[in-house]
Amino acid sequence: MAAARARGRARVVAIFQPHRYTRLGTFLKEFAEALSKADQIVLLPVYAAGEKVMEGASVAALATKIGELGGKVEVAGSMAEGRSILGKVWQEGDLFLVMGAGDVTQMARKVARDFGLFQKIRELAKGEGVVKWYEPMQKHTTIRIGGPAQVWFEPASEAALGRAVEWCEKEKVALTVVGRGSNLLVRDGGIGGVCVNFGQPGMSQIEVVEGKIRAGAGARLKQIVSVAKANGIMGLEFMEGIPGALGGAMRMNAGAMESWTFETVESVRVMDRKGKVSEVARGDFEVKYRRVPRLVEDIAVGATLVGKPGNPEEIAVKLKQYSRKRWDSQPAAPSAGCIFKNAEKIPAGKLIEELGLKDTSVGGARISPVHGNFIVNQGGAKAVDVLALMEQVQARARKDRGIDLEPEVIVVGEDE
Ligand SMILES: Cc1cc2nc3c(=O)[nH]c(=O)nc-3n(C[C@H](O)[C@H](O)[C@H](O)COP(=O)(O)OP(=O)(O)OC[C@H]3O[C@@H](n4cnc5c(N)ncnc54)[C@H](O)[C@@H]3O)c2cc1C
Repeated sequence: MAAARARGRARVVAIFQPHRYTRLGTFLKEFAEALSKADQIVLLPVYAAGEKVMEGASVAALATKIGELGGKVEVAGSMAEGRSILGKVWQEGDLFLVMGAGDVTQMARKVARDFGLFQKIRELAKGEGVVKWYEPMQKHTTIRIGGPAQVWFEPASEAALGRAVEWCEKEKVALTVVGRGSNLLVRDGGIGGVCVNFGQPGMSQIEVVEGKIRAGAGARLKQIVSVAKANGIMGLEFMEGIPGALGGAMRMNAGAMESWTFETVESVRVMDRKGKVSEVARGDFEVKYRRVPRLVEDIAVGATLVGKPGNPEEIAVKLKQYSRKRWDSQPAAPSAGCIFKNAEKIPAGKLIEELGLKDTSVGGARISPVHGNFIVNQGGAKAVDVLALMEQVQARARKDRGIDLEPEVIVVGEDE
């Protein structure tokens, strides 16, 4: 610890993985004394090396001892959570001191590599937007599940986005677009590469020009509906209650009440993977049920939406009607929307109900008793729980009814 301090960096962050319970039990006090000298301590799960759990020799006990000695300590339940904590506690100028034995050595190499990517995206952003590393995806998904994104980038302009997109393509670094995360299941190990989100004002503005709505991809459907109502633009009411942003709604061709997003799209501003932007007319898109193939590759950065003239009171009545219908049939608990696409012969929710699978659970994930096609997070659910539940449903649908259920929810990231 003294050697680390001698490097003269702003702070020392000690990341420690105890190796074997017997060693942790024997030296708990000494470990606590040494570690508490760091400015911040992050404790990782014990690497058991075949040993059984030993009473009193736990990371929680070590954390308590460090706390008693005045140390600032965070405890990670998994290596992925450890990375999320590092992203949260990191400050410019920190020295990360990774100690212990077990899988912590791999983590040290990974952290060093990942920090390099974070620095690169910050450099490309040139101050235009927010860049974070190890951003926990559970904060950005409506089902509240997901390990950390290696790098999280909210560009403030198309130019900043373009620089990152072009560089990622050239360097073969994965780049994933994340909207409001309302149809997304992120695996517990998080998402490698760069996650782009359009939450910044420069990418989510909404304006009305000559009776048409021009909006950035990050504009929330809820806000688009409200602007449409205020300006007497009718036909977008079905978007009420779909908790996504415009980019995600276009990629998914989200729909409700027998209408869908692309019915309202006049043109889309699209960025290709070289960072080049063009305006593409609706007619040039192939549009499928919950899938617009071109937007799987290309990135939607904005769109012009059209409706027909209507009066705000009439629109308000329709919105109320739709809202009531939705909340009568949809769970309020955290979810990722519909898990499966409807089968040709039967809606997925009805099928799941007929199979008697409503209310089935795995870990913290449960098939909603309100709607069979929603899996809800009852608290502490992991992506593996949701995936196991999905497999159960698919297996039963195939075995009992000969139906192959295709996921609607987009699954991204890596297992832990
Ligand atoms: C309670 C609840 C109710 C829902 N009700 C409905 C409903 O009635 N009808 C319906 O269709 N859906 C519904 N959904 C699902 C979801 O809200 C929609 O699919 C929504 O359009 C997804 O938008 P998002 O911004 O959250 O996208 P995300 O979930 O963040 O992303 C979905 C996909 O779109 C991609 N993507 C996101 N932004 C862009 C972009 N700018 N360019 C290219 N690709 C992009 C992502 O990479 C991902 O593959 C519901 C979800 C919940 C939780």
